Amino acid sequence: MRKITVAIDGFSSSGKSTMARALARSVGYVYVDSGAMYRAVTLFALRNGLIEDGKVNRDELVNALDDIHISFAPAGADGVQHTLLNGEDVEREIRDMKVSSMVSPVAEIPEVRRRLTAIQKEFGLHKGIVMDGRDIGTSVFPDAEMKVFVNASAEERALRRFRELEEKGEKADFDRVYQNIRERDHIDTTREVSPLRRADDAVELDNGEMTPAQQMEWLMRLFAERSRD
Ligand code: C5P
Repeated sequence: MRKITVAIDGFSSSGKSTMARALARSVGYVYVDSGAMYRAVTLFALRNGLIEDGKVNRDELVNALDDIHISFAPAGADGVQHTLLNGEDVEREIRDMKVSSMVSPVAEIPEVRRRLTAIQKEFGLHKGIVMDGRDIGTSVFPDAEMKVFVNASAEERALRRFRELEEKGEKADFDRVYQNIRERDHIDTTREVSPLRRADDAVELDNGEMTPAQQMEWLMRLFAERSRD
């Protein structure tokens, strides 16, 4: 078996992070959630007054990029890897609606993408990595041996996200969650730099009707095929 690079892209709340994390754990690969990195930059901007009245101050954020250091703490008792922003654990805060509603405008900024893409490429230098996001198979790892594009309808994804928020004990409004998903889909697919699209050589997975166990079986089969010497 050779060590490979796995790129999992897809729309918001398509369940790709759960799948990517489970695959990485089961094959002993490093897992990187690239969305968490865009979320951490957004949280930094919100905390430092670089977003006002829903508008990102692009120039100031670009100037501040050198002050933003993102890293990951290995999975703890909860089995989830935690995102650190300048050394502080922000895993919970970056999942807030406040961050979710501003992350796509931040991720549209070419300098932000360039910076995060460079860091992501470095993570993957030695292969043995599973990374999920929007442009992993197209921009970050165009040569990845295994590329998956996950899809499901906006309604299904909103329902999934809504349930997740409820389970965490957060007050959630379905219409707001649905609107946020539609807005992010729109910005993510129409932005100029590395828009969300399926790489030509990616295998598409519509997981709307699949159980987590079925998704895992599908992924493991593809992984075994792609990592064969
Ligand atoms: O994956 P997640 O939904 O947490 O990502 C949050 C946002 O970060 C996405 O809606 C998208 O705007 C942005 N993103 C991106 N490129 C990636 C990963 C995430 O633009 N590779």
